[in-house]
Amino acid sequence: MAPMTAPRPHLNRRLAAFGTTIFAEMSALAAATGSINLGQGFPDTDGPAEIARAAARAVLEGRGNQYPPGPGVPELRTAVTAHQRRFYGMSYDPDTEVLVTAGATEAIAAALLGLLEPGDEVIALEPYYDSYAACIAMAGAVRVPVTLRPHEGAFRLDPAELRAAVTPRTRLLLLNTPHNPTGTVLTREELAGIAELAVERDLLVVTDEVYEHLVFAPGGHVPLASFPGMRDRTVTISSAGKTFSFTGWKVGWALAAPPLLAAVRSAKQFLTYVASGPFQYAVAEALALPDSYYEGFLADMARKREILASGLAAAGFGVFAPAGTYFITTDIAPLGERDGFAFCRALPERVGVVAIPNQVFYDDKDAGRTLVRWAFCKKDEVLVEAADRLGRLTR
Ligand code: PMP
Ligand code: GLN
Repeated sequence: MAPMTAPRPHLNRRLAAFGTTIFAEMSALAAATGSINLGQGFPDTDGPAEIARAAARAVLEGRGNQYPPGPGVPELRTAVTAHQRRFYGMSYDPDTEVLVTAGATEAIAAALLGLLEPGDEVIALEPYYDSYAACIAMAGAVRVPVTLRPHEGAFRLDPAELRAAVTPRTRLLLLNTPHNPTGTVLTREELAGIAELAVERDLLVVTDEVYEHLVFAPGGHVPLASFPGMRDRTVTISSAGKTFSFTGWKVGWALAAPPLLAAVRSAKQFLTYVASGPFQYAVAEALALPDSYYEGFLADMARKREILASGLAAAGFGVFAPAGTYFITTDIAPLGERDGFAFCRALPERVGVVAIPNQVFYDDKDAGRTLVRWAFCKKDEVLVEAADRLGRLTR
């Protein structure tokens, strides 16, 4: 008789810790309970109708219905480089320095899978977007979190802590500014310090800038790649999902010097190969929208930020006003709550609202225990209703 042994689990060890993403769990909870979903970050209003029409036109005219070119359609690659020149004065070659991906998510995965050797250390800001940890694990690399800590109403990076985290095995810094979930925007000084460290220790940098057009603080977004010594060691990642409110189209991109980009492309070709054909043409048009589009988008989100921030404060939460993104992180401790996960799981039942417990984005669970994130990319009246419901927690 064969010896009795426990069956081997199907999910491999690299992924076993990750389970189902919090976004799927919380959106399912919102749907099941009919709650207002301020959890997963997607707008409840689609982006510009003219851009939706451009996508429909591309489908009907047969542009992108068959596999587009591996690096992305030339129209979009050119539009991405024009965008980088227009907003940041940076120049990239559309043929050798731009790669179109299935959202920023695939760009992150391809960058990590293409650049890392097993055992390499990757420093990521904690709390980190959940796909970072999973992709670092899939690459067989080691995650080294550096925690953003609350200081004067915002989550700040301690440059000394970052410096201390670098070891001889550190290969890559994985950054995100504007930062999800905290809403922190790294300052020019912080970025300059990071750049100096990267140059000094010869590190690669992957920077996730998907919220580049959602900076409320004066000065706007500054790409890390624009700092001295960074142009050739940085992979800059962004996406159309946030900027144009079409998160389902999954059109993202990576920008980098040719040897770095080639490494990202090598991995990407075996992930999706290509995606989102017709949408690529539409996003090329979206990127060229006039300044009034970008300004209007930011002004709308700034108003929504105020509505939700004041509602949350009135309901008794400790509010960290975000300098960027469309998320607000709050502390639930002032409400007498101790655990964000339990709070978020019970919230639909209590008042019909869904949020995200930040602790899932931490290795140091205690640092995120009482933090909860709310998305404000929703209709004004939805935010007002959500705030009213949350007010009932203490009424
Ligand atoms: N990075 C961050 C920080 C995000 O918040 C998100 C998602 N919203 C992504 C990447 C993924 O972007 P995409 O939907 O384009 O894959
Ligand atoms: N980026 C979105 C958020 O932070 C979610 C995207 C996803 O569900 N993967 O809410």
